[in-house]
Amino acid sequence: MTQTLVERVTGQQFAEDTNVEVHLVMDAETFTGQDTGEPVDLTGYGPISPSVADDIIAGAPNAWIRRLLVDPVDGTLIVREPRRRHFDTTTASHIRARDQRCRQPGCDLKIRHHDHIHAHIDGGESTVANGQGLCTRSHTLKHVPGWTVTAQGRDTIWQTPTGHTYISKPPPLLPKDQPHHLRQ
Ligand SMILES: [Zn+2]
Repeated sequence: MTQTLVERVTGQQFAEDTNVEVHLVMDAETFTGQDTGEPVDLTGYGPISPSVADDIIAGAPNAWIRRLLVDPVDGTLIVREPRRRHFDTTTASHIRARDQRCRQPGCDLKIRHHDHIHAHIDGGESTVANGQGLCTRSHTLKHVPGWTVTAQGRDTIWQTPTGHTYISKPPPLLPKDQPHHLRQ
């Protein structure tokens, strides 16, 4: 369904290496990851549910997604999200295998997005070192003014609007406190 929607709007298919840009128009609550159930507007198509919008963002390997935040009163544009580039499949798989769950400290949701810690538009590279796995909520939160996220080696440092700093480390893939038994 997701692919059909985007194909209908763009005339392009995900599988092709194209520079498709998909615009998703949403209110502030949806933009910041609060699940209001308010529909998102897929430009050129019409209203879709936020979960379908999530699927479009998560499942578009070669599409550019740009979220547009509109004023709740008059519907005019407030924030136009910087263009973001997607990681190639190999890099994305590495990030997903390394991070396991969302990397925002305190969040343990499933990874839905591969985020450029240093934004691609500001020169951030599409590399494992500059990537982190995030859930949809944490991904939108990271782009809200006041939040700062930086990479330090394999750690990411999250600074909240209230000035608190949290360090996120990738989890160990093998538990340290259990002996590993090799199969004979
Ligand atoms: Zn999260």
